[in-house]
Amino acid sequence: MAKVAKKNTLKLKFDSARNLAPAPESKRAAKIDPQYDLFINGKFEKPVSKKYFATINPATEEKLSMIAEANTADVNKAVKSARTAYDKTWKKMPPAERAKYIYRIARMIQERAREFAIIETLDGGKPIRESRDFDVPTAANHFFYYAGWADKLEYAFPNRKTEPLGVAGQIIPWNFPLLMAAWKIAPALACGNTVVLKPAENTSLTALKLAEIIQEADLPPGVVNIITGAGATGAAIVNHADINKIAFTGSTEVGKIIQRAIAGTNKKATLELGGKAANIIFDDAPLDQAVEGVINGIFFNQGHVCCAGSRLYVQESVFAAVVRKLKDRLETLIVGDPMDKNTDIGAINSKAQLDIINKYIKIGQQEGAEMYQSSCAIPKKGFYCRPTIFTNVAQSNRIAQEEIFGPVLAIQSFRTDDEVIEKANNSPYGLSAGVWTDKGSKIFNLTTKLRAGVIWANTFNKFDPTSPFGGYKESGYGREGGLHGLSAYINLIK
Ligand code: ADP
Repeated sequence: MAKVAKKNTLKLKFDSARNLAPAPESKRAAKIDPQYDLFINGKFEKPVSKKYFATINPATEEKLSMIAEANTADVNKAVKSARTAYDKTWKKMPPAERAKYIYRIARMIQERAREFAIIETLDGGKPIRESRDFDVPTAANHFFYYAGWADKLEYAFPNRKTEPLGVAGQIIPWNFPLLMAAWKIAPALACGNTVVLKPAENTSLTALKLAEIIQEADLPPGVVNIITGAGATGAAIVNHADINKIAFTGSTEVGKIIQRAIAGTNKKATLELGGKAANIIFDDAPLDQAVEGVINGIFFNQGHVCCAGSRLYVQESVFAAVVRKLKDRLETLIVGDPMDKNTDIGAINSKAQLDIINKYIKIGQQEGAEMYQSSCAIPKKGFYCRPTIFTNVAQSNRIAQEEIFGPVLAIQSFRTDDEVIEKANNSPYGLSAGVWTDKGSKIFNLTTKLRAGVIWANTFNKFDPTSPFGGYKESGYGREGGLHGLSAYINLIK
């Protein structure tokens, strides 16, 4: 049965927290052109397709710009330019020289950080605080980190010789547009590859801004090509015969299509797909910190995070206390205008995604789980979803099994370590997990038995360029970040 918070004294107190004076970031610091072309061979070029599509601000539903839609002929041009740049320039360039370009990109992202943050928020709906404090600095850090490796590959792989793979086709999703572009481009360039990158159709703008930086940084033409479009453009990249490697982050469904498409070819691949992370709270955990970690784990970026802690397992003796604390905390979250610096939860990235989330909220109720939503008001225009938690959830429920990719948390209880390990691993996914306990031995026990690529202990959603990230099972394969991220872009030869 659905429950929305009733008026009570607690709520009145929190309401005053919500009534903070607006603190909007200015749109003026960001320049968005009315139309964007394709970035091929160092220049912005009109698409052969002659087609453009609109990109909108999901917080207001207003059009921001028109984006070129690359067809197969455009993809061919981009791959050709990447191949020529690879053969004639990039693979021959001394690695220390390559590094200078990558450092330059990193510094230019920092210089234009405010503009990037504003555009990321306008185009994608995430709170400006997150774009400003997380997405943009972490993207710059990735370029800095991999710039450092460019001339040190012989130390990364001692006693081995490395060679780049060639042309990398990179396809990224809409949840962390600039950051995912950085995750893909930085290691590829450091290892001597050239790139054709396609951002997601809902969120192309920061990748195109990155193209402007790449142009200003004087990167040799064709080393990075950024082309826009939807699934068909992505498929044309995947199927192009002259691509040596596919790096994909996105849904498990598309990941499977890509895997089938490249089967029997020589293309290497890294696939970073969906997730349904278990966040596990033991009764000896510091509960207030754990609750903060759970809130961050599921509501960061509106839950549009493949490693979001979307399943919560709480040890039975503290179950009631944790759920009460979570409900109280839910009431304090500020949902609304992503450009306001006070906002905790911004807009859902698209109408299509909001429909998916609402479908799952209905399914959860039909399955018999008990729903609790924050009582906050949400803007009438734009795509918004109240932070939502479900209790009385069964392991077999779809809201506990399937990725929702929204601000929806499914909570279950457990009694023993073995029980929670079994429940946490009972998922088609295996991207991340979180463990909250005072006992080091419990942390070691769980981190060795949970089948997840990244496991956080007494924290959640911590990212660093030095640390590998990737999944097990239907969450994909290959690792990005750290030394592991280099191996995805090289061949080791004797
Ligand atoms: P989501 O379901 O989260 O939108 P998708 O997996 O559909 O994620 O999208 C991730 C990226 O994959 C986007 O850039 C999208 O355009 C691209 N894409 C979608 N379909 C295909 C496909 N068949 N082949 C290659 N790329 C695709």
